[in-house]
Amino acid sequence: MNKTIAVIRGDGIGPEIVGQTLRVLDRVAEKFGHTFIYTDVDMGGNAIDKWGEPLPAAMLQKCLDSDSVLLGAVGGPKWDNEPAHRRPEKGLLGLRAGMGLYSNNRPAKLWPQLAAASPLKPSIVENGIDFIVVRELIGGVYFGNHSTEECEGEKKAVDIMAYSEHEIERIGRIGFETARKRRRKLTSVDKANVLDTSRLWRAVMHRLAEEYPDVKYSDMLVDNAAMQIVKDPSQFDVIVTENLFGDILSDEASMITGSIGMIPSSSLGEGSRGLYEPIHGSAPDIAGQNKANPIGTILSAAMMCRYSFDMASEADAIEHAVHTALNEGLRTGDMMADGCRLASCTEMGDAIVTHI
Ligand code: NAD
Repeated sequence: MNKTIAVIRGDGIGPEIVGQTLRVLDRVAEKFGHTFIYTDVDMGGNAIDKWGEPLPAAMLQKCLDSDSVLLGAVGGPKWDNEPAHRRPEKGLLGLRAGMGLYSNNRPAKLWPQLAAASPLKPSIVENGIDFIVVRELIGGVYFGNHSTEECEGEKKAVDIMAYSEHEIERIGRIGFETARKRRRKLTSVDKANVLDTSRLWRAVMHRLAEEYPDVKYSDMLVDNAAMQIVKDPSQFDVIVTENLFGDILSDEASMITGSIGMIPSSSLGEGSRGLYEPIHGSAPDIAGQNKANPIGTILSAAMMCRYSFDMASEADAIEHAVHTALNEGLRTGDMMADGCRLASCTEMGDAIVTHI
């Protein structure tokens, strides 16, 4: 297969971690007989320096013309005092909106070699943690009207939470389709005992569930979900939920797995094109020192293979190579532990490339 990938190296450690990820993708292409064609895209602080804005229209167009987009990270202290419309994050928001991405998908996977980094008890962790939170990204209370007014001698604030059926259906489908590519179990999280938006959410999800009889579907209230994620995370495969609940639950889920440097993510919209990026930022404190953990970005490339390119074996090969490098005791500084060997960003890349 031939695939075009828009590559946003970004700022801080971005170029280092993306550099290692492209080596891994090149090795995958070589082994499985594919051609990946990369197009460099400027976004974030480097685009502000070069073009005077964080996401020039021509750069967005390059992303829209590609089969998928790989991003390192953007931002850093150099641009902290820029006016709001010229800040690096504005590029990210513009990219998400421009690509029409309405689903953010974040795996919570505990690598057994890093089990000690989880804040959960060994008796919970030993059952395994491997699930994914599919979060609606552009609806709900974050995008409703916000207002504050004087009311009977005090201030009163109102935030509107709204969802229409088509918004629920399209994210619901991503939940079911994601489950089909995993262990075929979907938990839909809502607050249907209180909220109308959740009652509509549940009705739409039940309708969809009839179209996916091969996926084991269940509902869970959000307060219970927050408890179950720390009490027995092994019960989950895919969680699908609305924007606010997903924001909170996906952060909770990433905390229980240990190092921030290990966690990939994808954002999807219509069609197969997605945006793939690690969940961490540009880590300016270690930028340019060859210390960054490239695994979050490398695993994002594995997600790209699995979810945008339908290359399951290729994704498995990348994940297996990460597993092997960790088994050998290699660790970057962020996850270093007794008895392990400290690896630079490039050494970790070397090891993963070798094991594919
Ligand atoms: P951060 O995630 O960049 O760093 C937090 C801590 O984790 C730092 O100590 C850093 O060294 C460490 N860390 C992060 N990723 C690592 C990796 N791959 N390997 C080893 N250590 C790693 O968060 P921050 O310090 O709050 O933000 C720094 C900059 O990144 C800010 O400008 C922020 O706006 C930006 N940011 C960008 C994104 C994005 O591009 N999606 C996301 C979050 C923050």
